[in-house]
Amino acid sequence: MRWRRRVWAGVVATHALACVAGCRDSGPAPAPAVTRPASQPDPWAEHQAPGDAGPAAEPVWFPAEDVVAAQVAELAGPALRGRGSGTADERRAADRVAQWMQEAGAEPGLSGRWLQPFTFEDGRTSQNVVGVIVGSDPAAGHVVVGAHYDHLGEVDGRIHPGADDNASGVAGLVGIAAALFHAGQRPRLTVVLVAFGAEEAGLHGSAHYAANPVRPLDRAVVMVNLDMIGRPEFLSAAEYRLARLLVPARGIGAITAPGGGGWVERARVAAVAEGRPLVSAGDFGSTVEAAIRPLVEYRGDHRSFAVHGVPYLWLSTSMHDDYHRPSDTADRVDPGTVAAVGRMVVRVIRAL
Ligand SMILES: [Zn+2]
Repeated sequence: MRWRRRVWAGVVATHALACVAGCRDSGPAPAPAVTRPASQPDPWAEHQAPGDAGPAAEPVWFPAEDVVAAQVAELAGPALRGRGSGTADERRAADRVAQWMQEAGAEPGLSGRWLQPFTFEDGRTSQNVVGVIVGSDPAAGHVVVGAHYDHLGEVDGRIHPGADDNASGVAGLVGIAAALFHAGQRPRLTVVLVAFGAEEAGLHGSAHYAANPVRPLDRAVVMVNLDMIGRPEFLSAAEYRLARLLVPARGIGAITAPGGGGWVERARVAAVAEGRPLVSAGDFGSTVEAAIRPLVEYRGDHRSFAVHGVPYLWLSTSMHDDYHRPSDTADRVDPGTVAAVGRMVVRVIRAL
């Protein structure tokens, strides 16, 4: 009985983690591992046990919660009318995100330009916003951190603000940029920051970026996808209350490719340093993981990178009752959780 409930809970829990965007399937090829100069031992090597905070426990600066909350409120505000894919509202949001990236200290990713325009479906146009933080070791490869900034716009005459989906991820993204530069620091690996357009219409922005990257994808050690990171509880949707019984309070969800390359473990240690438990597909046992992985792993912008063999780490607080509804408003986003996820990513990047 317990086994069956555990399987059920596993299927429900991870399926919930997956319901953020559309689904397709294709096999990723293995990607280059992270190579560190012998002079710089891997600080994580001796900290593999989940719950071992290790060096990750040092405090990490991040923009104040009221700054995060203000960015979410602006993106999800009435002026941007739900940032529909391919609309003028989406374009105005892109300009604002570019401004935030610039204020955070990033450089424009496209020879002095921030926007990467593209067309999709029947000639509709959108754009990605691309910023770069050049690392101190140019030979070490790079990390891509991404979050889609579009949402559904107006549906059946009603504006869908998309505060958690995905203004929260965008606020996390620009906060990570500011944190990586804080106090004159610079990460060892270059970090490419991408706010994707037209995700809701079918992952178009990330597919375009992956086909036209500003750094060669075979030098990308990982793609970190931030999608719906603003709820204080993991899996808060009422329909998943059964699974919630087995999911830790204040959890943060993570999923990575099969075998994962250690990214979930790295995220777990960083999460513990933030005092937040990590929830991953593997937590429910290999049988459940094997059963549900095909259902979940490609439901987000990380899919566009996985098909090019880039390892990914998808972070999310997952499903809630306001998903894709007009009620996904800024007042229901917890800036503290956005900041915690942002600091987790900063910790993982700094340890590379
Ligand atoms: Zn989303």
